[in-house]
Amino acid sequence: MRDLFSKILLTMSAAFLCCASFSAAASLQVFACEPEWASLASEIAGDKVKTFSATHARQNPHYIKARPSLMSKVRRADIIICSGADLEVGWLPLLLERASVGVQPGSPGNLMAYQYVPLIEIPTVIDRSMGDVHPDGNPHVHLDPQNLLLVGKELSNRLTLIDPGNAQFYQKRYDAFESRLSQAIIRWREEGKDLRGMQIITNHKSLSYLIKFFGLEEVASLEPRPGLPPTASHLKKVLNQVESQNVRAILRAPYESDKGAKWISAKRGIPDLVVPYTVGGDSESGDIFALFDRSLELLNSVR
Ligand SMILES: [Zn+2]
Repeated sequence: MRDLFSKILLTMSAAFLCCASFSAAASLQVFACEPEWASLASEIAGDKVKTFSATHARQNPHYIKARPSLMSKVRRADIIICSGADLEVGWLPLLLERASVGVQPGSPGNLMAYQYVPLIEIPTVIDRSMGDVHPDGNPHVHLDPQNLLLVGKELSNRLTLIDPGNAQFYQKRYDAFESRLSQAIIRWREEGKDLRGMQIITNHKSLSYLIKFFGLEEVASLEPRPGLPPTASHLKKVLNQVESQNVRAILRAPYESDKGAKWISAKRGIPDLVVPYTVGGDSESGDIFALFDRSLELLNSVR
């Protein structure tokens, strides 16, 4: 009888231990459209989340395919976090067709960063027929570190709604992130102060927020419109335009074509500078802080 009682007790303890450890290990599934948002989620939520990024730094976030493997990831997600403003318009709506109610637009589990930051380059006339892929304004919002504070705050609010039991944890993590990033912003402004007014050319308008943050002067873009590849006539126009100017670099993201940049670089001797663009964009940009440290280092190197 006593043996039977012990056996039952052991079984119950094992069951309790099993479930307690499962509960401790369970974490929210974060589906980020881009690496910067996966990195932000790790900053705010630490080991309470498992993050997945749909794209990596060598993929153009405008143009990936809605693969079945991404669909299964979205289906399992408790929250999705993306740039929005049409950056993912070619693939995210397809993924969301089969996703749960909790991550649909309007739900706490659907966070679009552009809704929480001041957008720049909002066109006065929208003409999609001309190939403009930024019809609602520039969607590459993560490259102003001040925007990461705003989106980080909203992310901690959303996580609290979805997982109220860990509200204090998310608040504490956000406060620590806010303090660390605010201090870093002061340092980046100081270390980047001589970059103000430095003339650069861009390829796509992917770096506009970084350019604005450091006060660079963009004198030309190799794409005639965002998303429209450079034409020979446009490149010649840019070449003539920069002849009498002191352009220090042609900036582009790792996933952008080097064709136009190399052509101008060869003609005018202007460095073709690949900046990391997002977390993982080069071996030194392993997180949000390193991304800006590295970008600043590269910009200062051509000053
Ligand atoms: Zn773009």
